[in-house]
Amino acid sequence: MATIQADVTLVGGGIMSATLAMLLQRLDPGLQIVMLEQLPEVALESTAALHNAGTGHAGYCELNYTPADSHGAIDIRRALEINAAFELSLQFWSHLVESEAGKLQPESFINRVPHLSAVWGENNIAYLQARYQALQQHHLFSGMEWSSERTTLEQWMPLLMTGRAAEPRLAATRVNHGADVNFGAITRAMITLLQRSPNFQLLTHTRVQDVRRRTGHAARWHLTARRLAGNGETLQIDTPFVFLGAGGSALHLLQKSAIPEAEGYGGFPVSGQWLICQNPQLVQRHHAKVYSLAPVGAPPMSVPHLDTRIVDGKPCLLFGPYAGFTTRFLKHGSRLDLVKSVRPHNLKSLLGAGRHNLELTTYLVKEALQSPRQRLQALASFLPEVQAEDWQLAHAGKRVQIIKRCQHKWGKLEFGTEIVAAADGSLAALLGASPGASVSVKTMLDVIQRCFAPQLAAGWSARLKQMIPSYGESLIDDAELAARVRQQTLDTLKLV
Ligand SMILES: Cc1cc2nc3c(=O)[nH]c(=O)nc-3n(C[C@H](O)[C@H](O)[C@H](O)COP(=O)(O)OP(=O)(O)OC[C@H]3O[C@@H](n4cnc5c(N)ncnc54)[C@H](O)[C@@H]3O)c2cc1C
Repeated sequence: MATIQADVTLVGGGIMSATLAMLLQRLDPGLQIVMLEQLPEVALESTAALHNAGTGHAGYCELNYTPADSHGAIDIRRALEINAAFELSLQFWSHLVESEAGKLQPESFINRVPHLSAVWGENNIAYLQARYQALQQHHLFSGMEWSSERTTLEQWMPLLMTGRAAEPRLAATRVNHGADVNFGAITRAMITLLQRSPNFQLLTHTRVQDVRRRTGHAARWHLTARRLAGNGETLQIDTPFVFLGAGGSALHLLQKSAIPEAEGYGGFPVSGQWLICQNPQLVQRHHAKVYSLAPVGAPPMSVPHLDTRIVDGKPCLLFGPYAGFTTRFLKHGSRLDLVKSVRPHNLKSLLGAGRHNLELTTYLVKEALQSPRQRLQALASFLPEVQAEDWQLAHAGKRVQIIKRCQHKWGKLEFGTEIVAAADGSLAALLGASPGASVSVKTMLDVIQRCFAPQLAAGWSARLKQMIPSYGESLIDDAELAARVRQQTLDTLKLV
């Protein structure tokens, strides 16, 4: 049985592990980093281009980030946070592009696609207008445009306006420098850069089966992994730091680690499907990500949107997601994933969340049972002249929403992401999937802050500042810094 010694061990080859590995390698090129991925290649789960929507979430178009209170006042705080977090990703990706001097082309992973929010019906229009007025006063959103004029809307989104009746009225906002991101491509690019170092080792076809504290060495971890190809050899990994970036499966591995911080956590998996259009005549008439409002009772991740996607230089259109009920935690996972995640310590949280979210479960089961005709009806509200033969059904990745303890309801369901880390900073896991890959840099900086605090104080902070110029400062509060940083990233990443 082979034993590997590593300073940093990353489970999973998705965007989260790749981002953490890239940041750590640039901070200390001497670190021995091992990445273990069970599939034959990296970025084949949620990070794969067409397993997610590729929206560079910046709060420009997603209406669920700006709720209205009972008096119609719009709360823009979440949109500001997400915008500022996405700016960190843009800065780090710009740093990678610049440092590779022409070898990493931005258009291979990020492309300018305007972000629009479109709504119909008078109440929804009033909400959108109030949202626009609240957001565009802030420097991060000052470029947002508003229109309810048919001629302008026809220019912004011709395909949506073709064949549309004058009533109900439609209005939209637009931010021109929105992004479509191929998260799979940036993940593969980062791993290719990492592989230039002899200190980085990627083991694909390798499934981590167990994660335990090393007996007699409380601050070290002992991982057991099995090669799924070749001789099926078992590997032992001895390491002082583990990151569980296993997507939906991070919960299972976190439970195996038995850290007390993991107690009470559970997962609620949600599957997704898209309709995809490759017909060039339609594709060339739409260049935008158009988000609308979620139907009543729908979870925030099933807000319908019609997106231009650019995958390997080729544009296509994607509509969805149609969320659905599943018991798998990964696309390549097992039907028993949900059952296997039940533990005595999370049973109460799961029952509590289940009891309070029966409506959501019913909604997801209904969505999963939709007929092709019903799916097309949803698309027809965006594209009045939709033709079934232009669209093919495709399966997206899985999202495992977080269930956690709460005092009054036993357990609650959350739609964000959370880092669960051991108190000594020797292990961290990422749970949840929203806003997801867009904020991978901010999320992995949070892991570094939680788990590498002494190194940050001893010089890493200064190095981070060279890679991410706004690191340690607030883009929400500092308008001059935000304008400078944005100008630079938009130029470098060719988003203008
Ligand atoms: C339908 C949908 C739409 C989305 N849209 C967007 C969007 O528009 N914008 C956005 O920013 N985000 C979006 N997301 C979220 C985004 O895709 C995820 O947040 C992100 O890809 C998660 O990356 P990850 O590295 O954590 O996980 P993953 O990409 O799932 O990678 C985890 C990896 O771990 C491996 N693994 C698991 N268990 C083991 C094990 N035991 N041993 C070894 N390897 C293991 C898996 O094989 C996998 O490769 C969307 C997600 C979905 C599902």
